[in-house]
Amino acid sequence: MPHRVSVVGIERCIGCYSCMFACSRLRFNEVGMARSAIQVRSAGGIERGFIVIVCRACIDPPCAKSCPTSALKPRPGGGVILNEDKCTSCKSCYEACIVRAIVWDDERDKPIVCRYCGFCTKFCPHNVIALESIGREILV
Ligand code: SF4
Ligand code: SF4
Ligand code: SF4
Repeated sequence: MPHRVSVVGIERCIGCYSCMFACSRLRFNEVGMARSAIQVRSAGGIERGFIVIVCRACIDPPCAKSCPTSALKPRPGGGVILNEDKCTSCKSCYEACIVRAIVWDDERDKPIVCRYCGFCTKFCPHNVIALESIGREILV
């Protein structure tokens, strides 16, 4: 069964960025905010809180459709899988994502796409995010 990371309690987010640091550490062995597949931003002022942006694991992903080299392919059941070797850094996927969930890695000039591992969820102190089974029929 495929999984995705879901935002289950945005009102509890305190903007600690632990989820971003966890992703950045796992993927790039660094603790920073620039290279993380999950993004936390201020919603515009203390009272309005934060927004968390992460891949929604679309069933018919526009990001993959836009990829001219098939570097980004639909994952069975929803979401995408990236084969970086085929990526030509054209940025089409980055532009095509409907929720802006693809982060651009300026250092490597490559997209950062969620791998649906749920590592970030283990570091959220307020259970704002959770790894969920998306339970969609898998058509291979
Ligand atoms: S940046 Fe890479 S993965 Fe994204 S659309 Fe272009 S070739 Fe495909
Ligand atoms: S990166 Fe964006 S368009 Fe692609 S599957 Fe995730 S949410 Fe959908
Ligand atoms: S770890 Fe949780 S509380 Fe902290 S920024 Fe991320 S979602 Fe918000």
